[in-house]
Amino acid sequence: MPFLPFYIPRHNQLKIAIIGAGYAGIAALVTLLRHIPDASIAIVDPRSHHLKITHLHETFRYPLEDFLIPFTALENRFGCRHIRAEPALDERVLRQWQNERFITVNGEEINFDYLLIASGSPIAQMVKSENVLDLYDFMSVPGPHLLESRLNASDMEEQSISVIGGGATGIQFLFEIADFLRRQQIECGLRLIHGEARVLNQFPPGFSAYAEARMADLDIDFYPDTRYRGQQGNKILLEERHTNRQFTLPSTISLLFLGKKPVAPVSANVFGQILVEGEALQEIFTAGDCSIYNAFGSNTMTAQSAVRKGMLAARNIIRHSGSFKLLEPYFHRDLGYVVSLGPADAVGWLALEGNVVGGIPALLIKELVEAQYDLLLTGIDTYLM
Ligand SMILES: Cc1cc2nc3c(=O)[nH]c(=O)nc-3n(C[C@H](O)[C@H](O)[C@H](O)COP(=O)(O)OP(=O)(O)OC[C@H]3O[C@@H](n4cnc5c(N)ncnc54)[C@H](O)[C@@H]3O)c2cc1C
Repeated sequence: MPFLPFYIPRHNQLKIAIIGAGYAGIAALVTLLRHIPDASIAIVDPRSHHLKITHLHETFRYPLEDFLIPFTALENRFGCRHIRAEPALDERVLRQWQNERFITVNGEEINFDYLLIASGSPIAQMVKSENVLDLYDFMSVPGPHLLESRLNASDMEEQSISVIGGGATGIQFLFEIADFLRRQQIECGLRLIHGEARVLNQFPPGFSAYAEARMADLDIDFYPDTRYRGQQGNKILLEERHTNRQFTLPSTISLLFLGKKPVAPVSANVFGQILVEGEALQEIFTAGDCSIYNAFGSNTMTAQSAVRKGMLAARNIIRHSGSFKLLEPYFHRDLGYVVSLGPADAVGWLALEGNVVGGIPALLIKELVEAQYDLLLTGIDTYLM
């Protein structure tokens, strides 16, 4: 059993409930069981599978099942219990849980010594018609099937696909679709609609220059500073950002990658304990995209930060249960971020945000990071910091 500094066990068997079993929840689960293998852990998540969402765009090349891990498999691997439910969370409920030390899910009372909230951040959605897709569609049906069924059903003479949103997710899907259309020899135009002047605008300009040059190489039409206003039959309605001029373009399928829904994150102290009206709930922690830590560490909505927060929250739960209650503050800084541009290319930063790398080196970094998480899912923790 690995050594955890400042931890002298006090409890016999800790009961821990984890609400949300994405990257943060799973990282916490593995960390808890490494240090306290006899803990009784319940994970509460409405899905039947853990989704490796950072791979979702790759369903144009690999089966969707490769990125879905049934919670039953995780129950067998880690000896935890999965409860399929989606409890509603707010400050009143959190206070009540802190006082009562149980949550009620599907009519059952789940007692806990510690609770971790890791429910992620919801994805923005809009009203959709049959030929408009968003990220949720790709979570249950493989990409090729979604596109082919709609292209085959269309009677348009010249077919085209519009990708809306030039953030990391939209760009990763855009390049996978371009590669898929080329491999399958499907005659279909591809365009990107983006509300800002440059793609990947949350990253340094080197990202945009690299990605936009690759888009030009692949004949992908780019509409910057343009907003999506809806799909009407086989036409997409757009609006120029600076002039508000509206216009339509033919579009067989529109794919919406609009980012995260703006919801208030859960506030936490430097140790990951939830703050309600400035007061730390001692036995309730949070981690991942749903959380903002009041700390020096990174609060970016990335898998890296989610995993590090999940691990930190788990270590602090264990320490808090011990005799000293000496907790560890959150200092993690992201070490890089890579956006894939199809199967053979990528762009990212490493070590310093200005240090932009493209091509094979960036691709290798991405694969290394993904492999590290795959190992964690098998219970092997290779994260050094
Ligand atoms: C398409 C895509 C690609 C991405 N690529 C990258 C990348 O390459 N690199 C990177 O660093 N980051 C990437 N990200 C961001 C990264 O995936 C997130 O930052 C990360 O998943 C956050 O982890 P999390 O555990 O907080 O939330 P999630 O992984 O979203 O997990 C949240 C879990 O909570 C469950 N849940 C939600 N509400 C409730 C509730 N009320 N009760 C119980 N359970 C609930 C959900 O079902 C889900 O299983 C990508 C995101 C997307 C969408």
